Amino acid sequence: MYSAPDHTAPLDAAENALINDSYQQLKQSANSGRTHPLQWRTGQLEALKALLEQHQDALIQALHEDLGKSVAEAWTSEIGFLLSDIKHTLKHLKRWSKPRKVRTPLIAQPGTSYILPEPLGVVLVIGAWNYPLQLTLAPCIAALAAGNCVLLKPSELAPATSALIKKLIPRYLDPSAIAVIEGGEAPTTALLRCHWDHIFYTGGEAVAKIVMRAASEYLTPVTLELGGKSPCLVERSADIEVTARRIVWGKWMNAGQTCIAPDYIIVEECIKEALLNALKRALVEQYGKQPLRSNDYGTIINASHLARVRSYLGDHTIYHGGVIDEQRHKMAPTIVLDPNLDSALMQNEIFGPILPVITTTQISESLAFVRDRPKPLALYLFTNDATLTHRVINTMSAGSVCVNDVMLFMANPALPFGGVGSSGMGQYHGSAGFDRLSHLKSVMVRKFWLDVALRYAPFSARKLAM
Ligand code: NAD
Repeated sequence: MYSAPDHTAPLDAAENALINDSYQQLKQSANSGRTHPLQWRTGQLEALKALLEQHQDALIQALHEDLGKSVAEAWTSEIGFLLSDIKHTLKHLKRWSKPRKVRTPLIAQPGTSYILPEPLGVVLVIGAWNYPLQLTLAPCIAALAAGNCVLLKPSELAPATSALIKKLIPRYLDPSAIAVIEGGEAPTTALLRCHWDHIFYTGGEAVAKIVMRAASEYLTPVTLELGGKSPCLVERSADIEVTARRIVWGKWMNAGQTCIAPDYIIVEECIKEALLNALKRALVEQYGKQPLRSNDYGTIINASHLARVRSYLGDHTIYHGGVIDEQRHKMAPTIVLDPNLDSALMQNEIFGPILPVITTTQISESLAFVRDRPKPLALYLFTNDATLTHRVINTMSAGSVCVNDVMLFMANPALPFGGVGSSGMGQYHGSAGFDRLSHLKSVMVRKFWLDVALRYAPFSARKLAM
């Protein structure tokens, strides 16, 4: 069992020096241009692929230690996810990095215009703990593909995975261009004092504000992958059995600790009973009658997050679940009926295994409910009604919309991922990540042989009349 170092202690001189040296080394490599050639980028991506393939067992073990992830979950949502992101990137990188030719207007003829993606320089990646491998390495894939140097700061709350990233990355990737610094608030604060070319942060809103404040010192661009409450609307025409199975799959994966997990359901009164029964059936199908004993059901990251999630139960009506195993940091899949909307449960992102179910009489009421709240990271709708589908997709703002499923849009690297409003800024995955961590430089090249005098002063009346 891995024992975590104390991440709350202030940094000593050696740790400060390590941060400074790592930063200087990366800056030097970025300035040298050695990370720019396509060959270097593909080489690094191939090496990262080899790391993931060759250390699957150790990575699965670390994810199990940190979050009780099953082999299947560790594979699909972390290792396999990253491998398919790398394969997709390797397949398209040559095309993404080519100059993108655009039209040149008459006034600039003869000439050519194009957009040339260029590396930003040195990127700081601050990862989150709930998908500790994926959320540290997916931004790294985008950063390397774009030809950047990168410093990875995995989350201290997933110490086994963080330690393995720290150990393996220098063995596979170019150590002069990719560095790893472990730890929590103290090293991250020190890192945030450096002048980065981009900061890519995944986590909660409070720290996002710290990151943005620090970035403003050098006007550094930031990507903020945040969270919030992602609503799940169920309308009367939905196939209830399939809806329930898919919601159970997405909500209770990683014990509900997923930024795009359905946070709460809003269901029409007329199908409420049927949906609740179907949810219970699906829960038993997927996790058995005693979910806390299921090898497929994960743990809450630590005691303080368990206490946070438990406090959300308050005096709500628990329709299903509610059982807690304090020692193993586990809480059974829990359904709460018609919670008080002013309660902590409905005011905060749950980020745990509780699913509130709210009832409305009409779907239009459900839409108004969502519209009155901050723009979500993901919005889910279950329906067979094409008009409603069109209305929701075209009139509701959200980071992503997914109809008749939850979370699966993440598996499509062609879809950009990110929030809107308080659920985040900036998108990544696939070409979106490449573009996000590149500067799209505008280039115009003119010829000397035609030089129209019309543009130059003096602007006589005759010139102006032309
Ligand atoms: P957090 O914001 O507390 O921590 C995230 C990172 O910030 C960690 O690496 C941590 O070391 C660092 N950090 C913590 N305190 C700091 C400080 N004072 N100064 C500088 N750095 C500090 O993580 P959290 O709030 O527990 O994460 C959960 C949130 O993240 C949820 O809202 C969830 O929805 C969101 N999330 C979003 C995504 C996404 O891709 N959009 C993915 C996962 C999680």
